[in-house]
Amino acid sequence: MYILLMGPPGAGKGTQAEKLVEKFKIQHISTGDMFRAAVKEGTELGKQAKACMDAGQLVPDSVTIGIVKERLAKPDCKQGFILDGFPRTIEQADALDRTLGELGIKLDRVINISVPADDLVSRATGRRICKGCGATYHITFNPTNVAGKCDKCNGETYQRDDDREETITKRLSVYMAQTKPLVEYYQDKGLYTEIDGRQPIDKVFSDIVASLRGA
Ligand code: ADP
Ligand code: AMP
Repeated sequence: MYILLMGPPGAGKGTQAEKLVEKFKIQHISTGDMFRAAVKEGTELGKQAKACMDAGQLVPDSVTIGIVKERLAKPDCKQGFILDGFPRTIEQADALDRTLGELGIKLDRVINISVPADDLVSRATGRRICKGCGATYHITFNPTNVAGKCDKCNGETYQRDDDREETITKRLSVYMAQTKPLVEYYQDKGLYTEIDGRQPIDKVFSDIVASLRGA
């Protein structure tokens, strides 16, 4: 199964991807996670990405397209994948189209998790991530059993640097200008499904699974 998960920052892409990976045993490819790993490792890519991420801007297309092409060419992607947070521009979407064509892969479904802007700020400011396994929580909407400790691996949870209110506002405006046009792009390709992301996490998940059954 080859799934593309779209939606504004804080819509619940990572949360749903975790659950889809568990259910369908496919790869989770998150460009945000790849950039955060590079920042942690202190690589050149990490330094370049951090400057963009902290400013709430996108990492340049040339860089992002390169790392995704490399990742998609790995053999484990043949079993299926969820692309989360890529593409974010029309240029990235065109590049993805070409790369998938070269690899002989056809997307099964493009899922857009739709959440109004007003809810996104509180979702992102309350988001916490596990340092150990990367699991996503929310201090109010999806809290850990023990404050600050991951339920899955007991790792410490932290707040992303780019989840401060002023950066989120910037990220939302970047989303509206550069990423939202992709809704029409994928609607025109006929694989597009919109899911109401204001619902509880498990209901969003069951709606996604139902839409995949029709794929
Ligand atoms: P994205 O990957 O799209 O940026 P996340 O999956 O990280 O979004 O979710 C953003 C925040 O919102 C997280 O703190 C997550 O726990 C919370 N969240 C995700 N889905 C829901 C939901 N359906 N209802 C309430 N909170 C949610
Ligand atoms: P995310 O974890 O998806 O919220 O992404 C965090 C940040 O990583 C974004 O705000 C961007 O700075 C960068 N990023 C992630 N994916 C992309 C992408 N496809 N194109 C450009 N920048 C990206």
